[in-house]
Amino acid sequence: MIQNLLALNWKMNKTPAEARAWAEELRGKLTANDTELAVMAPAVALASLAAHLPPGVALGAQDVSAHESGAYTGETSAAMLVDVGAKYAVVGHSERREYHHESDADVAAKARQAQANGLVPIVCVGEGLDVREKGEQVAYTLGQLEGSLVGVGPEVVIAYEPVWAIGTGKTATADDAEELAAAIRDALIERYGSDADGIRILYGGSVKPDNIATLCARPNVNGALVGGASLKVPDVIGMNDAL
Ligand code: PEP
Repeated sequence: MIQNLLALNWKMNKTPAEARAWAEELRGKLTANDTELAVMAPAVALASLAAHLPPGVALGAQDVSAHESGAYTGETSAAMLVDVGAKYAVVGHSERREYHHESDADVAAKARQAQANGLVPIVCVGEGLDVREKGEQVAYTLGQLEGSLVGVGPEVVIAYEPVWAIGTGKTATADDAEELAAAIRDALIERYGSDADGIRILYGGSVKPDNIATLCARPNVNGALVGGASLKVPDVIGMNDAL
């Protein structure tokens, strides 16, 4: 049985002080259950969260450098993220693929670098509206997955995030999520054999307290990657309780 993961992606929101206030509010309200809760915060808020998150809540980054160290101005290395307490690093989020022109090869390099330092990469894949309208979402997403996992081992989480559903309020159906999650599972089994059985596949795209249970009820969907609804503690409690 795979443990569900509720991964919160704050995007470029919350200062370290706001992160601390959020963590303290969460501490008073969170009830333990079988779901793993993890917060993907801006790099500058990670130290504050590490000091104030409730026990058992994991920490993650929203990106990681593909390089070990050195002359890469503005980048954050995997070793730095581990040192501040991170367990996860999101790689290949559609916003980075679009606004920072990250290719599948870039994403794979970041995922390899994360794993080399003991971080678990959360590799994001998913089709845009044009691809979905042509009915080519499975082939497109599996192609992205293949390119984003070159040289990457099975200590990984996959997030299927249809781009048309991110931050738009348009949610995929549970059937849409399972169609892709099942196809991703088959591709992971082909790549990793029995090691693929324990890999978590998340759904992401306008997940909220009132739809998370339905979206994550199918056998191959093992949790969610949540943007907008991750910012307010009551929404997080609602999602954590519903999952
Ligand atoms: C995301 O940022 O990965 C995401 C899924 O955002 P939202 O939940 O706001 O659609």
